[in-house]
Amino acid sequence: MRILSAGIQHETNTFASTLTTTADFARDSHLGNEFAGGDAIVARYQGTNTIHGGYLEGAADAGFEFVPLFNVHACPAGMVTRSCFEELVGEMISRITAALPANGILLDLHGAMVTEEFEDAEAEIVRRVREVVGETMPIVVTLDLHANISRPLVQRSTVIVGFDTYPHVDMGDRGREATRLIKRIVDGGVQPQQAFVQMPLLTVPPMQCTLREPMAGIIERLNVLEQRPGILTATIAMGFPFADIACMGVSVLVTSDGDMGVAEAAADEIASWLWDVRTALQPDLVTVEKAMEIAAVAAGLVILADGSDNPGGGAPCDGTVALQAMIDADFQGGIVGLIVDPETVQQAVVAGVGGVIDVCLGGKTDTLHGESVVATVEVLALSDGEYVYGGAMAQGISDTLGPTALLKIGGVQVIVSSLRRQLIDRNMAATVGVDFADFKLLVLKSAVHFRADIGPLAELILDADTPGVHRPDFSCFDYKNVRQDAYPLNAEC
Ligand SMILES: [Zn+2]
Repeated sequence: MRILSAGIQHETNTFASTLTTTADFARDSHLGNEFAGGDAIVARYQGTNTIHGGYLEGAADAGFEFVPLFNVHACPAGMVTRSCFEELVGEMISRITAALPANGILLDLHGAMVTEEFEDAEAEIVRRVREVVGETMPIVVTLDLHANISRPLVQRSTVIVGFDTYPHVDMGDRGREATRLIKRIVDGGVQPQQAFVQMPLLTVPPMQCTLREPMAGIIERLNVLEQRPGILTATIAMGFPFADIACMGVSVLVTSDGDMGVAEAAADEIASWLWDVRTALQPDLVTVEKAMEIAAVAAGLVILADGSDNPGGGAPCDGTVALQAMIDADFQGGIVGLIVDPETVQQAVVAGVGGVIDVCLGGKTDTLHGESVVATVEVLALSDGEYVYGGAMAQGISDTLGPTALLKIGGVQVIVSSLRRQLIDRNMAATVGVDFADFKLLVLKSAVHFRADIGPLAELILDADTPGVHRPDFSCFDYKNVRQDAYPLNAEC
């Protein structure tokens, strides 16, 4: 049995101003400018908690020949350019064509990629794969929990398997699940029937979190339902709300063995659980001023999740609203993780540790996330920004913040990086010697993912009421293509 794999992952914020290019994929994929396949993919992903890490383990367990051809991703940002999409998908399709014949193919996709040409990029990718592998070859697709799933994508895929966790910590499990499924399908042991329900329901990141209710309980019920006889797999895709496209929103997939009625009934049942908790899926936002009041008297660390400027959802990550508020209030014991500003890092490098410099920090990408902070700062630490993820998310993967500085402005510290990264792992802060447990108030440019590794340090976690292209508030966005009958856009539902 010969199984191929290929992947392209991007989460596209259609409200973000910066387009995503081939150079972004080359920088973030760490597979060279040629996007090396084969052994380079094995070397990068073996032993990591990623979809491809799961494929590698699952293939070894199942004993089939596994041929990893292509796997690239770029940090979430604005739309993928037309030429980037054609270049990457063209390369992927030519490698698949050259690797045939095969018995099946595993596709490692995100589900929320939008390009200048295709608002449903994954459906287009699978359409092109079908063109070269034919209508009958099993294609098992893995998707992120933030996938905005369309019916054409479902129809072109044999089975879709989505993440069950947010923070995403089950990628290795889902990769292994995909390998087990494709083996059973190729062996003829099961005949997948996939039911799909696209719900009139839109949700935002803070409450999509599966460590909190109501989603914690719903995922528990989903896992129980997956054990029923005849059910092969079930997925709740919460959707990525910062995309103005027709298929944005929550959807449910259930795949049964040979019985569409069973699959459809289970999918309707899961959809009813979600519909029943729709009001509880809207977040309560807390101002920076209120968070400072709470943190000043708290016994332990308070985290303010500044999801509005979350680079993991395409935001600039150079927003200054929370930092400026802490400086203005002369707050003592605050820290911001992180602000991307390579120019300021270069100034800090020139000054050296202990140096004092005048900076114009952050607020340089657009006008939505606060103005640059003009201040005199002390350089507390410098580093090359290299780290390996130690928390459950992306465990074992190496990455870099680029040259990084820790700066002090009055009673507040700020980690300033050269590359745009979501600070979700203690090892990222450790590059400049920071232990968050030493602080009273930590502002993180992350909506939810930090909860996996950094969340356990906190006495209390609050969701920030700040402006930005990733603000968890539907009233801030002028949606033109999203279904207007969906809750809560139409709260009459
Ligand atoms: Zn996600």
